[in-house]
Amino acid sequence: MKLFEFQAKEVFAKSGIPVPRGRMASTPDEAAAIAAELGRCVVKAQAHAGGRGKAGLIKLANSPNEAREHAAAILGQTFKGFVIQRLLVEEAVSAAAEYYLAITIDRTSKGPMMMLSAEGGVEIEEVAEKTPEKIIKITIDPSYGLFDFQLRDAVEQAGLDPKASRQVQAIAHKLYRSFCDNDAALAEINPLMVTTDGAVIAADAKVDVDDNALFRQQDLLVYKEEAEEDPIEAEAHRRGVTYVRLDGNIGIIGNGAGLVMTTLDLVTREGGRPANFLDIGGGARAESVTQALEIVLMDPNVTGILFNIFGGITRGDEVAKGVLEGTSKIDIKVPIVVRMAGTMAEEGLALLQGSSLIPANSPVEAARKIIELAGR
Ligand code: GDP
Ligand code: MN
Repeated sequence: MKLFEFQAKEVFAKSGIPVPRGRMASTPDEAAAIAAELGRCVVKAQAHAGGRGKAGLIKLANSPNEAREHAAAILGQTFKGFVIQRLLVEEAVSAAAEYYLAITIDRTSKGPMMMLSAEGGVEIEEVAEKTPEKIIKITIDPSYGLFDFQLRDAVEQAGLDPKASRQVQAIAHKLYRSFCDNDAALAEINPLMVTTDGAVIAADAKVDVDDNALFRQQDLLVYKEEAEEDPIEAEAHRRGVTYVRLDGNIGIIGNGAGLVMTTLDLVTREGGRPANFLDIGGGARAESVTQALEIVLMDPNVTGILFNIFGGITRGDEVAKGVLEGTSKIDIKVPIVVRMAGTMAEEGLALLQGSSLIPANSPVEAARKIIELAGR
């Protein structure tokens, strides 16, 4: 469960991490009222997506009227598929430096990893890509926790301003505590701002809580009600379809989570961009195939669909019938490539002959075909 910035800042504040004074607003008048209390402030769109700064969704306001105008301009805008319904209005901070501080779970060490950089801010992706050595990583052993010496070392390597270093280390400890206490999968502060007065403060906040731990995170459940789900994911959820939206154009449908993950990797390796993860599970009757197609096609970015089916207990001919019946029920304007293997796969592929579905003999061939037809 992703938290909004204003929620993540509440969580951080409870852990003792300094955050700017501010409050959530959902109308221009509310924004103006908060600005009247705070003085010079920033009006920040609340969305479960990064890159708001670059998209013009973070605006400085010198007066309540300006805050009202910015709020009116930002509210209702669509940003990366989300309609902006909330704002955070908080006191403006003058930055002397913008650092990056985050903790996530590292798959290689199978534990928490802290990342720290002197070059935080809106270009952090570029830093990660072009000069990854500027992001210092600390592998944390959860049974021992985060050691002071690890932090001192990282702060030195990252080249932080020595005057800010003590504060950054204190915040890093609190962030780790907060990460653990809230069962987070991600806790990120970008930018961790050094103000012109020499204070260090979390100017942005991102928290993603592990859904599997929500049962023991009663305090966080209030945020669940306010949570904003992707509309297609929400619909898939309602229908009981295992679907995750991604940002490409090639719809992926398969049976079995591992197979679908592999298909995503294959399509990516061949230069394509998957639009989603969708696992129709074992048994693929017409009904579930129709459901899957409907969900995938709700995403307007989809220009082609790849079915990757492995027949085990699920028989190829049954899947083929499902696909044929499913595709005949809805009007589909995009090309569909089907790869099938395993039990009764040949019979399945034979059934597809004469339909508009395009068969492929191997996963790689299927990936290449759909990329060619759907475009990149
Ligand atoms: P993001 O682009 O979605 O990550 O949104 P952020 O909250 O990180 O804001 C983007 C950028 O806006 C930051 O990197 C800062 O440069 C700037 N910014 C945000 N809040 C403030 C503030 O209070 N004062 C100043 N000077 N800059 C801010
Ligand atoms: Mn940010």
